[in-house]
Amino acid sequence: MGWNRKVLRVNLTAGTCTPEPLNMAWANDYLGSRGLASKYLVEETDPKVDPLSPENKMIMATGPLTGTMASTGGRYVVVTKGPLTNVIACSNSGGYFGAEMKFAGWDMIIFEGKSPKPVYLYLENDKAELRDAAHLWGKTCWETEETIKATHQDPLIRISSIGGAGENGVYYAAIVNDLHRAAGRSGVGAVMGSKNLKAVAIRGTQGVSGIKDFPAFMAATTAGKKVLAENAVTSQGLPTYGTQVLMNVINEMGALPTRNHRDVQFEEAGKISGEAMHEKRPTDGKTHLVANAACFGCTIACGRISRIDETHFSVKNSPQYWGAGGGLEYEAAWALGAANGVGDLEALQYANLLCNEHGMDPISFGATVGAAMELYDLGILSKEQIGVDARFGSAEALCKLVEMTAHGEGFGKELGLGSARMCAKYGRPELSMSVKGQEFPAYDSRGIQGMGLAYATSNRGACHLRGYTVASEVLGIPVKTDPLVTEGKADLVKAFQDATGVVDSAGICVFTTFAWTLADIQPQIQAACEGDWSMDKLALVGERIWNMERQYNLAAGMSAKDDDLPPRLKNEAAKTGPAKGLVNGIDKMRPEYYKVRGWTPEGVPESSTLERLGL
Ligand code: SF4
Repeated sequence: MGWNRKVLRVNLTAGTCTPEPLNMAWANDYLGSRGLASKYLVEETDPKVDPLSPENKMIMATGPLTGTMASTGGRYVVVTKGPLTNVIACSNSGGYFGAEMKFAGWDMIIFEGKSPKPVYLYLENDKAELRDAAHLWGKTCWETEETIKATHQDPLIRISSIGGAGENGVYYAAIVNDLHRAAGRSGVGAVMGSKNLKAVAIRGTQGVSGIKDFPAFMAATTAGKKVLAENAVTSQGLPTYGTQVLMNVINEMGALPTRNHRDVQFEEAGKISGEAMHEKRPTDGKTHLVANAACFGCTIACGRISRIDETHFSVKNSPQYWGAGGGLEYEAAWALGAANGVGDLEALQYANLLCNEHGMDPISFGATVGAAMELYDLGILSKEQIGVDARFGSAEALCKLVEMTAHGEGFGKELGLGSARMCAKYGRPELSMSVKGQEFPAYDSRGIQGMGLAYATSNRGACHLRGYTVASEVLGIPVKTDPLVTEGKADLVKAFQDATGVVDSAGICVFTTFAWTLADIQPQIQAACEGDWSMDKLALVGERIWNMERQYNLAAGMSAKDDDLPPRLKNEAAKTGPAKGLVNGIDKMRPEYYKVRGWTPEGVPESSTLERLGL
């Protein structure tokens, strides 16, 4: 059956934990994880709810393949209404926490209300308790994990927690699990903090039972792993260089946003690339990279374990950061690096560690620093206001600002608002490189046109993981399209968005799609789950999820005007590289996209579209 058919409802106001059956009719329509949890959120919350109020809900959910033998089947999501964007938020994380939830017998945990005091949820198979977290409040994510494991005398407990950023309402606070994995985007950690929920600790010993057709499932998952093992990206590129393998590739094609998107190529990209992680440092003769790492059940292992140079200014007096830690991934290396013009790999690793330790999204944090550096460069913000000489390229400023933001000190509080609110406060809202309030990831849409449309129309604000047309426009997966043209991008973006809805809802990692198409995933779902999970049905499920999220956002107050890019990307042409002279063609692509989606020119799903999708 794929699902455990059990939901835990935690009412934090009343302090109760109540099991209930999973709504199987909804599971049949939305599969699991992102799709199913979003359906619960849509049904149970007012779209206009204040994200940080007790009336908002936060749902942690697994998919039917989470915890199984499917490669990368360790994913879980956090679904809520996001404070950064004021629309639906769904943040996805790997590691081992999701599989543990499944092993404990649960598909989903719904948190509602607000606890009168800090608590953590302790879940051991069927036993669910809210425990006092007064002694954990104020601790980092790393300290929280260590303390909870020691309290329960069990090193195998899996924990998701918030750090100071979530406690202090940083708008892009993350929920961190397994020390270095995070449900990072849209501020889901701030929602958790607003509920006085410090952590969720799970110990599950029941395994995963109920796979519908076990021999067929083993055959399908084995075949899937073979495809991953024979693909150059998933068997060589990602394990060897991690996602950072993209740094030089994207820079060469003139699509690496640099200095708050003023430039599209970074002259020091090579210094912060996946290749640079393998080079021996002149200072200590060691490589930055120590090993690669995998999330639960993953046969790709793109994760990075690395070590900072102990003599680097950021850590020379802080031996707690001398050990090996997680990172860097491409997005973090870009946001902390090129986005600010910083080419100091050790500084990026330090800033990334602090983001993990204190629970912050490094993409939104780094991009917000980039916006602050531009305000500084323009003379709108002074050194006295920021507390540091925040010129583009300053590794010292980056390290200082990450500490200030993590600890909620001085100008760090303003950085914690995110770039849209911060830039608006200083009268230059157009300098926020964001959509729906969420900062862009690491692809400049003047050089990869389809990504501009994907960002503008993403239901959770600017995001590469809702429609990763980079696969097609850059890597030729599954077919090569020209990154510099707008033609055909409406269809391409829709196809990626709908397919990603299925991947996310199954409980597997989107990086499989460098090698897998839905045709590789479908037999795994079909063998695991009761019912019909044909290709046609999966296509419909993906499209249904997208339109359901859209309907929620429209009801929350969003409209077509929010499906847009900052003026810089529409008016200021790329200065160098293959895209030199180009701006993004969003105004041409958006009407085409609405048409392909079966939406009105105002971006509202037509009644015939809703009827076809059963919405
Ligand atoms: S590909 Fe990377 S992020 Fe995805 S599950 Fe594997 S290790 Fe985790």
